[in-house]
Amino acid sequence: MPDRPYTPLPQFKILGQPVHLATDYTSWLIDRLQQGIGTHVVTMNAEIVIQASHDPELANIIGNADLVTPDGSGIIMALRLHGVEQPRYAGIDLGADLIRLAAKPEHNYSVFFYGGKPEIVDRSAQKWQTELPNLNIVGIEHGYIDSQQQTQLLHQIQTTQPKIILVALGMPRQEIWIRDNFHLCPQAIWIGVGGSFDVWSGSKNRAPEYIRNLDLEWMYRIAQEPSRWRRALALPQFAVLAVAERIWGKQQLAPK
Ligand code: UDP
Repeated sequence: MPDRPYTPLPQFKILGQPVHLATDYTSWLIDRLQQGIGTHVVTMNAEIVIQASHDPELANIIGNADLVTPDGSGIIMALRLHGVEQPRYAGIDLGADLIRLAAKPEHNYSVFFYGGKPEIVDRSAQKWQTELPNLNIVGIEHGYIDSQQQTQLLHQIQTTQPKIILVALGMPRQEIWIRDNFHLCPQAIWIGVGGSFDVWSGSKNRAPEYIRNLDLEWMYRIAQEPSRWRRALALPQFAVLAVAERIWGKQQLAPK
């Protein structure tokens, strides 16, 4: 058991949606894991904020999530408008950091990979198994299964009780699926990781570091996957609303 008790993180609201502020999200998560407290993690970006603003179900899921991390540069810029300095922590990096921590001998946390196309999730799991031979992968399932396979998947999750469940179904499908199934494994970290398996499997490229440092990873993703352009329309909308909120809105920092 850790000697530090679990402490709630302060949160800041951007256009009504919470974002938790921390210097070390993974330590906070591992503390909770060691205390048997499960965590639903939402990795927040501008697109999700806009979608949640007209989808009460999604807004409710985000509002009830135990941890909402600042995944997108838009979130970082909106926080900065309010004088809050918080580094970006991309969901793909958080997912990778959790997997690396899981493989450490002092942890040995079991991991489950769910989502993506069949060859993508297999290659992703294989990549991590090769890189971290100690990693204890207790399940791998792709994201295009029928209802009978879904029942089997849920049974497998319940019986294996993984400590970290990575869900790559895209937003908001993964957030809804986690909300619906969290009770099966209430002591685990459940995290929606979007297109991370596509990158880990080598089927898509991550933006180079200099592009990420320029806060232009979103643009790189559109260049690589032009069909994403429609989704990117949320970004200018988010920017205008975030500035308007800064000028006319009220904000407060509060623990969850
Ligand atoms: N996906 C899936 N099942 C579905 C729909 C999508 O497993 O029914 C996967 C898809 O193969 C891809 C991921 O979900 O690997 C979505 O990635 P995206 O980059 O769109 O994630 P987002 O940006 O929405 O978080």
